[in-house]
Amino acid sequence: MSTPCIGEAGHTGDWRSVRPKFDETKCLAVKAGRPACFQCWAYCPEGVIKKEIGTEVDLDYCKGCGICAEVCPAGAITMVPENAEDAE
Ligand code: SF4
Ligand code: SF4
Repeated sequence: MSTPCIGEAGHTGDWRSVRPKFDETKCLAVKAGRPACFQCWAYCPEGVIKKEIGTEVDLDYCKGCGICAEVCPAGAITMVPENAEDAE
């Protein structure tokens, strides 16, 4: 897997119209309190989700594709409009 870096296209997250929002009360890794699941990390095509308990996304490069939300078995990720007040 390649790691994100600043390329000719710049911070590609600037193009995003929606972003992932994580509900840690549903996340299997958080609930188990140990490394588990990480389907979001495995399937993110940009490699911008950290493989850690408690999700963290590098929004400089997240393109808002929504794959993480699709593969999350716990429904812990929803895609919200980029300009939503509770987008963080
Ligand atoms: S795919 Fe969902 S449940 Fe699994 S680690 Fe990611 S956010 Fe948590
Ligand atoms: S929306 Fe796409 S690019 Fe952004 S974290 Fe999820 S899978 Fe990765």
